[in-house]
Amino acid sequence: MSRKHASEFFIDGAWVAPAKPRTIPVIDPATEEPLGEVALGSAADVDKAVAAARAAFDRFAATTVEDRMALLGRIADVYKARFTEMGQVISAEMGAPISFATRFQAGAGMGHFRVARDLLKDFHFVERDGSTEIVREPIGVVGMITPWNWPANQICCKVAAALAAGCTMVLKPSEVAPYSALLIAEILEEAGVPKGVFNLVNGDAEVGQAIAAHPEIDCVSFTGSTRAGVDVAVRAAPTVKRVGQELGGKSANIILDDDGFAKAVTEGVKLCFRNSGQSCNAPTRMLVPASRMAEASDLAKAVAEAMKVGSPADAATEMGPVVSEVQWKKIQALIEAGIKDGAKVVAGGAGRPKGLDKGYYVKPTVFAGVTPEMTIAREEIFGPVLAIMPYKDADDAVRIANDHPFGLAAYVSGTDTAVATRIARRLRAGMVTVNLAPADPKAPFGGYRQSGNGREWGRFGIEEYLETKAVLGAAA
Ligand code: NAD
Repeated sequence: MSRKHASEFFIDGAWVAPAKPRTIPVIDPATEEPLGEVALGSAADVDKAVAAARAAFDRFAATTVEDRMALLGRIADVYKARFTEMGQVISAEMGAPISFATRFQAGAGMGHFRVARDLLKDFHFVERDGSTEIVREPIGVVGMITPWNWPANQICCKVAAALAAGCTMVLKPSEVAPYSALLIAEILEEAGVPKGVFNLVNGDAEVGQAIAAHPEIDCVSFTGSTRAGVDVAVRAAPTVKRVGQELGGKSANIILDDDGFAKAVTEGVKLCFRNSGQSCNAPTRMLVPASRMAEASDLAKAVAEAMKVGSPADAATEMGPVVSEVQWKKIQALIEAGIKDGAKVVAGGAGRPKGLDKGYYVKPTVFAGVTPEMTIAREEIFGPVLAIMPYKDADDAVRIANDHPFGLAAYVSGTDTAVATRIARRLRAGMVTVNLAPADPKAPFGGYRQSGNGREWGRFGIEEYLETKAVLGAAA
């Protein structure tokens, strides 16, 4: 596992010691024991990394599209060679079952480099409108701050897009799951990313805040909680940098009243519990016709009780622990709040699953009869906790779905795809999935309202890192 550089940062093409020595343990969520340590940086390390990125910018921005396509292709190849290792690192540091961590988590990270390379083929950096030339240019130095829940995916979607755009960058990964980020830095180094183009400084909020405020950073891309995302935007405002925010979610999953009901409920519960419920786009508010609440509860209970919860290292495990003690306690408090508010516990509940006394394990929990004002219908729980809510008719379902400060994702399932699609179009969320269609790495990823600003993934992700210049009266 890649802990070789845990006490170092990657700056200007070299592994270097932090300005001030400071470390924290990285805890294995399955055992509560330290996996190792990681260095925590400070503003001085950010200054050094930004200086390297700034110095590398002009040359990298001037590379050809072909150069950058070749680079992205080499990164994808090296990533592929270290794919198994990536799955193991992610599973160990954040607790996702090894099969899921490898196929989906490591896989998503690699996919972004391939998608970015392929998109560059037909990307128009220069367009003409009459005598005006419209040029899309790399925005400059990008600061990136990422969370622990899909660590490789979240880092790679930013890095791949920034490289495709011709930007240089400084990444601060999550201090909770930093080892996958160190492995990504090793991959980028091995693939020959020019020195200074990609820089990594590990650390906590202090490093994130230094990135947000840095006058030599032109754009900051943040993924994480709404709380921290707001702080980043406030700190970024005095230097008028562009701020991309991918924040929280509380996504509705509308199940229509038809023959596909049982399958849609069953699959919706499984999707909610995936990654131990730690996905920003998890379908955590399941909306069912009021007359079918009992049926939905029984179906959800069956799924929750059949879930194989256990060690992430075990190939048969479907659900590992949640990432940390902090998250475990937060989830427990929200389960208690659901009980206090009068929601019906159909499966799971507070405490650890039977036989799992060590590790941050949570019982797959289903609440039925949840109403929109309850805490568990408002707060993002970020754990395996489903709230099933009744609706009267399609209009009521749309109203409940849209009635939330978050608007990241939404889901609609119905046997008549045309009907489900009509409802999908009425939902005010950044990503609406009809009949649990698979994820599309080229589709824009991001949210409405307090779920964020801007979009990542695919073409939209590259555009986040481009400035637009009009050259009036340009020669043809
Ligand atoms: P977090 O906000 O605590 O941390 C995210 C990152 O920000 C970490 O690297 C952290 O060190 C850093 N950070 C924390 N406070 C900061 C500050 N004040 N200034 C600058 N940086 C700061 O979130 P987390 O606990 O790591 O992740 C869970 C949250 O992330 C959930 O709310 C989840 O919904 C959200 N999330 C959103 C998306 C999305 O794409 N919309 C994706 C994944 C996670």
